[in-house]
Amino acid sequence: MTPTIGLVIPCYNEEEVLRETTSRLLELLAKMRADNLVSPQSSIFYVDDGSRDKTWALIQELSAAHSEVCGIRLSRNRGHQNALLCGLLTAPGDALISVDADLQDDLDVIPKMVRALIDGDDIVYGVRRKRTTDTFFKRFTAEGYYKLLALMKVQIVFNHADYRLMSRRAIEALGEYREVNLFLRGMVPLLGFRNSIVEYDRAERFAGESKYPLGKMLSLAWQGITSFSTSPLRLITTIGFIISAVSIGLATWAMFMRLFTSEALPGWASTVIPMYFLGGVQLLSLGVIGEYVAKIYTETKDRPRFHVDRLEGNAFRQQKS
Ligand code: UDP
Ligand code: MG
Repeated sequence: MTPTIGLVIPCYNEEEVLRETTSRLLELLAKMRADNLVSPQSSIFYVDDGSRDKTWALIQELSAAHSEVCGIRLSRNRGHQNALLCGLLTAPGDALISVDADLQDDLDVIPKMVRALIDGDDIVYGVRRKRTTDTFFKRFTAEGYYKLLALMKVQIVFNHADYRLMSRRAIEALGEYREVNLFLRGMVPLLGFRNSIVEYDRAERFAGESKYPLGKMLSLAWQGITSFSTSPLRLITTIGFIISAVSIGLATWAMFMRLFTSEALPGWASTVIPMYFLGGVQLLSLGVIGEYVAKIYTETKDRPRFHVDRLEGNAFRQQKS
């Protein structure tokens, strides 16, 4: 039984890369079909994440020209993680592979992923071997971040981003996670199932600019910590406990000086410095607690995470009839 594979590609203002991406993906699909690795119904699903440029028009054009190309348009820009989840929960197929539109992730490992699926794996993680195409800053911060997550006991696959294959039942399991604050690379390992890793080298973006500026990057990183770990809260408790213990010690010492010696207590510094220090610690604690309260707030609303505006392409037409 050859599986029907769907390639899910979130796109935000990707008009510069879509043509090239499509021709490379079509070539890959044709090759895999020839090798009898995937079924003829295997398709490409572009998820237009509310692009402001001609991305959607281009997707429609490509879909008209190639029966394998399908499109899903979100009603507005919801960010990469939401767009990707929308694609995974909307596209049909026995297994779906998520890829970035700029094809920085080496496509040659996709046949390996499909072979692992045929061998019975439900999830296959694409893992970066080296980060030679990244800047020093990016490499240093990204690897440091993965280590920090591991330290906070967040289960992640080291150096794995969102390049992965998921079987139908893994996707169905993922659909049962109702959270709004998405960090897919933290959620997928929670699913369990049989899984494996394929290694690849990451290339540079062949056209266009990164749609992940520092701000979005930091927000994703913060999401990863606050959606998956309560370690920051525990850390505050620990700091609070230590500071309280130290102040009790100090108070005892002050009492001792007052009762049994004639030395004057130090004045200004010992009053003002701890005041500022404690004020700072309190503010920090409140900030982090507020962060979690904000999460409870958004999670209890249980809002839908996306609305599909339109579906395009053969796979959907067949589904409707
Ligand atoms: N992307 C998206 N919505 C956004 C930002 C990015 O769907 O709001 C998509 C983008 O089109 C690309 C993928 O997410 O397919 C990864 O983005 P990019 O390649 O710019 O990130 P980088 O590789 O620089 O981290
Ligand atoms: Mg990229």
